[in-house]
Amino acid sequence: MPQHTPAGARVCPTCDGFPVVAITTGLRRPDGTRETVTVSCPSCAGRGYAPLWLVAPAHTHAGT
Ligand SMILES: [Zn+2]
Repeated sequence: MPQHTPAGARVCPTCDGFPVVAITTGLRRPDGTRETVTVSCPSCAGRGYAPLWLVAPAHTHAGT
């Protein structure tokens, strides 16, 4: 993969690396701009990557 991630961290599986999104409410402000709300990913708190304990390895064998 061409994307490098910091050691000990993986891209957040919940937001897939896009931790903060702006959602339009459908309303318009008096100046004509769209009213938006900014939402941070609850899993990674807006960091975009998650600790390893959150990103469970897909292949974990206990050794039996
Ligand atoms: Zn996230």
